[in-house]
Amino acid sequence: MRKAFISPSKYVQGEDELLNLGFYIKSLGESALIIGNKADIDRVQDKLDQTAEKYNVKLHRGDFGGEATREEVKRLKELAKERGADVVVGLGGGKAIDTSKVVADGKNIIICPTIAAQDAPTSHSAVLYTADHQFDDYAYFIKNPDVVLMDTTVIAQAPSRFLVAGMGDCLATYYEARATRQSNSNVNAGLPNGYHTGDTGPAKGTIAAMTLAEKSLEVILEKGYDAKIAADYNVVTQALEDIVEANTLLSGLGFESGGLAAAHAIYNGLTVLDGPGNYYHGEQVAFTTLVQLVLEDAPKSEVEELLDFSLSVGLPVSLADLDVQEVNYEEILKVAKKACIPEESIHSMPFEITEEAVANAIIVADAMGRDYKARKQEK
Ligand SMILES: [Zn+2]
Repeated sequence: MRKAFISPSKYVQGEDELLNLGFYIKSLGESALIIGNKADIDRVQDKLDQTAEKYNVKLHRGDFGGEATREEVKRLKELAKERGADVVVGLGGGKAIDTSKVVADGKNIIICPTIAAQDAPTSHSAVLYTADHQFDDYAYFIKNPDVVLMDTTVIAQAPSRFLVAGMGDCLATYYEARATRQSNSNVNAGLPNGYHTGDTGPAKGTIAAMTLAEKSLEVILEKGYDAKIAADYNVVTQALEDIVEANTLLSGLGFESGGLAAAHAIYNGLTVLDGPGNYYHGEQVAFTTLVQLVLEDAPKSEVEELLDFSLSVGLPVSLADLDVQEVNYEEILKVAKKACIPEESIHSMPFEITEEAVANAIIVADAMGRDYKARKQEK
């Protein structure tokens, strides 16, 4: 049996850490193309100017068009070439970061998230979309980013909803890794769809990844609420630091090398409904994690722990919380069907999956979430 574990070469996190970006660029080259939304780059331009001067590197702005499309990748690749940039820096949120990964295509890349809203920054993959915002394709690269740099001062200044969404994404990680381990399924670290196939491809998870996944849940449950309050007031505290690490590093390594299962597949299924699309990835995943727990008939203590936590930080616990007010069985079955296509991670659950069982779990999780929330509000 082959096992695999992958990670960025360096993860660095701290207050005002962006001031050291030039140092990391210098370790890879002389100049960098910064790919990010105009507003995100503007927000940190002062720090970029300071670090460029201090470490004597050239920074070129590659203002991001807003969608991670093949056309945008081509445009930015040409810009990097034109400017002679030998390093790509992805700065901002999910789509700018994904685009930067595709532009770099496994070569010199530094990721600087300005929010901690999901766990993709450390990974060796990205998602491409079409110009009208529909899913296009997954992209896998030969290695993970060279550096993932988290400036917690910048992250604390962003709306707290982002940090809370990141906690939602992180809530799934342990449960999905646990299911993957129980079923002895393959993990993304083995590059199932990537560069290596056959003899050098599929791999199982490691004890290391499982341990990180387990720890990510522990940290979220213990410090998530405190970190949300800190983020509400835009200040850095130890709890906020710990949550940024849990959302990004622990959950990122935990999902990529520990495995995805039902929660993320059902998240993909939710795209057939109107409503959830108005919510961040992690907000939807908080709810689909509840669905996974119902599907696997998890202990009551785990379900209630998840519900209590989600309600304490304002994460969705029902379809109504995701703007799905009325939904019939046929529509839920459509969600389940999409979640159950053969290539989906739901088949990493340690039992046979049927569309009906998934639909039923969604119905029960939704009703349970609504009921639990109503009872909490009565008190
Ligand atoms: Zn996720």
